[in-house]
Amino acid sequence: MERYSRQILFEGIGEAGQRRLRAARALVLGCGALGSAQVEMLARAGVGRLRVADRDFVEESNLQRQSLFTERDARERVPKAAAAARRVAEINSDVECEAVVADVNNSNVERLVEGCEVVLDGTDNFATRYLINDACVKRGVPWVYGAAVGSYGVSMAVRPRETACLRCVFPELPAAGSAETCDTAGVIMPVIAVVAAVQVAEALKLLTGRVENLNGGLMQFDVWRNEWRRVSLAGPDPECPACAHGRFDSLNAERPEMAAVLCGRDAVQVSPARAAELDLGALAARLRSAGEVKSNPYLVRLRAGAYELTVFRDARAIVRGTDDPATARSLYARYVGT
Ligand SMILES: [Zn+2]
Repeated sequence: MERYSRQILFEGIGEAGQRRLRAARALVLGCGALGSAQVEMLARAGVGRLRVADRDFVEESNLQRQSLFTERDARERVPKAAAAARRVAEINSDVECEAVVADVNNSNVERLVEGCEVVLDGTDNFATRYLINDACVKRGVPWVYGAAVGSYGVSMAVRPRETACLRCVFPELPAAGSAETCDTAGVIMPVIAVVAAVQVAEALKLLTGRVENLNGGLMQFDVWRNEWRRVSLAGPDPECPACAHGRFDSLNAERPEMAAVLCGRDAVQVSPARAAELDLGALAARLRSAGEVKSNPYLVRLRAGAYELTVFRDARAIVRGTDDPATARSLYARYVGT
């Protein structure tokens, strides 16, 4: 316990709180900028088990703000979840970190949430946040929403049926293109650090049972315009489809589109129609005639003309060099099969 002595001295946590942290399991969904910062803080705080899920691999342009990753991770194109687990093992060997290299969707989100006492949002899109909200409300697991763009960020903790949920506050998915994204406005690391810090503080309160200390609202920060605001929220909306009526539209939606454009990446993710497990070695051998092939234990990358295909073991691919789903699908069919 010596390594946590400063945290144990803090009266909000103490020895009993530290024991609860050690026994806890937290899920971090999305391990980009926010997720990186969350994972590091949770690991250093001694949260005993972390589950980290992310669909992407590390690239050079991530390093400005995704604090868990190194140039080596980018060179080797290590999946973010795997790179995070490797880094956690170096930071705190007491922490068990489970890496899940997968797209989070309605076929797996409930399984990911299962067995976790808190979920932290490290995603970059509202569609996935509604999924998290549905899964957490359905299973009664608290979660902490967070988002950042430019110098602005927000955070909100959701305790199912005790506080407003994401659907209570934002009933509709914002129309595509209506909100600024990291693609159009960029993002600076200080606001990431602020949002992630507030999310982790809320998670520590939840895990140690100090719910009376939760901030109880929607927190908004702008580290450039120097605005810090807390919007108080009423309790759950009696009309909310999710937390009042138990209707989980995101969980029950048709399987998401097979090809999804990735924000700001000039890339499209193509998912197989049916779950599959690829033999990456065989795929790499087969693709060598088509172009330059590189691989690591998690993925195979093919450079073919202007395109780059990165294929994961779960048969997903990220096709770079296009933002056209049809082009990406046809490249996938040509090189990976259907
Ligand atoms: Zn609600």
